[in-house]
Amino acid sequence: MTVTRPGAAGRGAAAPGSLEPDPFAATLAALNRAHALAAAYLGGIAERPVSRRAEAITMAAALDEPLPEAGCDPGDAVAEWLERAEPGIVASGGPRFFGFVNGGATPAALAGDWLASAIDQNLVAWASSPAGAQTELTVLRWLKELFDLPSGWAGTVTSGATVANLVGLAAARQWAGARLGFDPARDGLGGRPALPVVAGEAMHASVAKALATLGLGRDAARWVPAPGGAMDVDALAATLAETDGPAIVVAGAGEVNAGAFDRLDAVADVCAAHPGGAWLHVDAAFGLFARLAPRLAPLARGVERADSVAADGHKWLNVPYDGGFAFVRDGEALRAAFAAGGAYVAPDADAGWNPSGHGPEMSRRFRALAAWCALRAYGRAGYRALVERCVDHAQGFAAWLEAEPGLDLLAPAPLIVVCFRYAPPGLGPAETDALNRAAVTALQADGRVFVTGTVWEGKVAVRAAFDNWATGPGDIAVLQEAVADIGRQLVPMATG
Ligand SMILES: *Cc1c(COP(=O)(O)O)cnc(C)c1O
Repeated sequence: MTVTRPGAAGRGAAAPGSLEPDPFAATLAALNRAHALAAAYLGGIAERPVSRRAEAITMAAALDEPLPEAGCDPGDAVAEWLERAEPGIVASGGPRFFGFVNGGATPAALAGDWLASAIDQNLVAWASSPAGAQTELTVLRWLKELFDLPSGWAGTVTSGATVANLVGLAAARQWAGARLGFDPARDGLGGRPALPVVAGEAMHASVAKALATLGLGRDAARWVPAPGGAMDVDALAATLAETDGPAIVVAGAGEVNAGAFDRLDAVADVCAAHPGGAWLHVDAAFGLFARLAPRLAPLARGVERADSVAADGHKWLNVPYDGGFAFVRDGEALRAAFAAGGAYVAPDADAGWNPSGHGPEMSRRFRALAAWCALRAYGRAGYRALVERCVDHAQGFAAWLEAEPGLDLLAPAPLIVVCFRYAPPGLGPAETDALNRAAVTALQADGRVFVTGTVWEGKVAVRAAFDNWATGPGDIAVLQEAVADIGRQLVPMATG
């Protein structure tokens, strides 16, 4: 390959579409374009429809085409993408997106994330970015302080709670194997005794995914009933009593449909009493944030007794996608699960903390910077106020639902997820399910707000989550109006 460089005399702006080294002028021009486009988007986000229910055919018409032969100006490429993709951009970072459990991006986090791209550090090893590695360590320390977790716990910044669950359960697998005399990371699981897993039935799908990835088996786990979203602790004790040797127990703090919490203290007591030993992993994707407010902290009491904890950054911490974190009490088990050899990455004995020894990735984005900037900018007080405000929104909305005829709150809403349904009198169960399915579609198409559907205890339901820093009381009023309007449109048709 020949790489041509413009000579000193000819060194002006590179031709559009060329990848010849021209490090600053082209970069600055492209960044300025992206900045202007982002400013226009964010400046209008509160006004634009939240949902873009583009069909696959629309998006394919906009974007599915052969690789271009000739290039173009980098800023034009960015602008062209935004224009073409517009029909499919969901304002999920905006204040009226109540779907899933999303969260937005605070000013500090978004700016930090931009900077992370600009300085492009590789968080694979201490040597590849001492600044990055130390920042990640500091973020983990700050998060432990924020959530009042033991300071000695090891941890890692992940891409989300899914990978954080994988990290915690990989450490659990390592611990259980060691108790049985083998090293799962080194030896594999073939021909070894099974490693029993007991989990609540209400666990998030990502737990099953992690068990599948780790060779522990989605269906090999014993799933304990979880009425109302919280694990039946007596059933857990009975299941564990049938299990010999070390067991892995998975519990949850903040169930995704309605926000219920497992009774973690009681679960931890059961684990502590298991003769073969039990590793307690807690999926606390958003529920961990209950610990920030004194009035909510009892919900997550006992999480400090866990062996590993998974949580999300891109939900309630309001950092941009993607970000999450995992904490593990036994750092040796974590490092044994993820140790990597190879002469060219082998950590220098004198160097500091080695990020890639604590999680599944090697080269990785400097995700911790967005979190550092947010924690620095808002501090404990800012996050505590955010948590309290979000819970006030959820509880205000739940109270409105309870007072509104024809709407049913389906479960208590202890935190930020509110699960409800349209239930006009005189409608049978199947028709009520159909009405609620149609209502979710209609609410999304309406565009004022975004909510998602679910099935709660056999009933088709609607759910709204309140974890975006930008949401204000006016947005809650719009949500209530939209829910009421869609009811006025659909209920007469369903009952008439
Ligand atoms: C969102 C969520 C997850 C998965 O997190 P990702 O951010 O999608 O990786 C796991 N558990 C719970 C309870 C969740 O709410």
